[in-house]
Amino acid sequence: MTMTHLTTPPHSIAVEESVLDSPLVETLRRTLPNARWTVVPDISSLAPPSLSSHDPPLTIVRFKGRFLRSCPATKFYHCCGYTILHFGERCTIGCRYCILQAYWNQPHLKLFGNTHEMFTEAASWFARYRETLFRVGTGEFTDSLLLDPWTGFSEQLVPFFASHPNAVLELKTKTNHIKRLQDLDHRGHTIVSWSLNAPTIVAQEERGAASLTQRIEAARRCLEWGYFLAFHFDPLFLFPGWEREYRETIERLFRSIPPEKIVYISLGAFRFMPALKETILRKNPSWKLASGEFVTSPDGKKRYFIDIRVTLYRKVLEHLYSFASDLFVYCCMENTSVWEQVFGFDPSSRGGLPAMLDDAVKRRMGIGVDCHSSAISLLPGKCQQPWGGVSLPAPIANLP
Ligand code: SF4
Repeated sequence: MTMTHLTTPPHSIAVEESVLDSPLVETLRRTLPNARWTVVPDISSLAPPSLSSHDPPLTIVRFKGRFLRSCPATKFYHCCGYTILHFGERCTIGCRYCILQAYWNQPHLKLFGNTHEMFTEAASWFARYRETLFRVGTGEFTDSLLLDPWTGFSEQLVPFFASHPNAVLELKTKTNHIKRLQDLDHRGHTIVSWSLNAPTIVAQEERGAASLTQRIEAARRCLEWGYFLAFHFDPLFLFPGWEREYRETIERLFRSIPPEKIVYISLGAFRFMPALKETILRKNPSWKLASGEFVTSPDGKKRYFIDIRVTLYRKVLEHLYSFASDLFVYCCMENTSVWEQVFGFDPSSRGGLPAMLDDAVKRRMGIGVDCHSSAISLLPGKCQQPWGGVSLPAPIANLP
């Protein structure tokens, strides 16, 4: 797979007949007048070689499943209770450690053209459960803003969330594709978030992404436009000089960003399914970052030993708190023992991590202050809380 430069637009687009009249297709025809277009009855009729070539087409398809779903977590770890708005799949930024490589072996980006159904489904959930706060993100199976300069999808998403009092949107990215966000009527319902890492990791492992300087500058501009911000130090790696380098990233962040505009910061130590390591090593035989000692966790993933994870988290947390002790920082997919050693408490004793994040959104953003339940108990998905979760309500009748 060739490295895609962030500013390189797709050269060719394959679209399914059934979504030819999608507003997304209309926008792409306008913003990419020189792209080669192919129209097919079904994307599966495109021969695999054309999808796995060095310049695979962007594909626009009809998505037939549920657009809104719970984060695919497991019951062994404290999950954030994030709701995914599934608008597309795959990513061409090409981070060497990217977990998406374990899900899909073809590099072509896929976007869903039936956006009208997506918005209808989301609006139906938000209206039906007005007392539930929905924290929704689009960055689980792709980068939220990777194609935004050409799709302009943020121009639909951001105002849509602004019109729903019990919903906030998180756009999670490693790009600096923020231009279209500038004049949008977000009404404080959108968080723009960046994954950050140590300078060595950014330079060596995230070569297709925006630089650290570009990401922080993009965050600063979003702040000027009134957006709330979040940051994800995930995956944290153990490598020579890690503590000094993570401190440097944190210092650079707070040189530009005032802590009070940050809704939350997540920490997640590097973890991987064994198959991912094989995939990475096939492409990069000398890759060292997964060659240390790892333990197999109950969810089948390999993780650093618990003492190492606790040391990583404590040090990064110490540096973050040295800039602002009231930051809301949490661990992504960690167990109770780690929480107790890093933060000194079990999230279950405070209502669970989803409730704690809901509270951070209410306090920092002033959104959903009258809501008293979390979306985690409503949506289809695998996320089950360690403390038992809540039973699913009756399905929504008017969903497509
Ligand atoms: S930006 Fe995220 S989704 Fe894209 S390649 Fe990197 S880790 Fe994967």
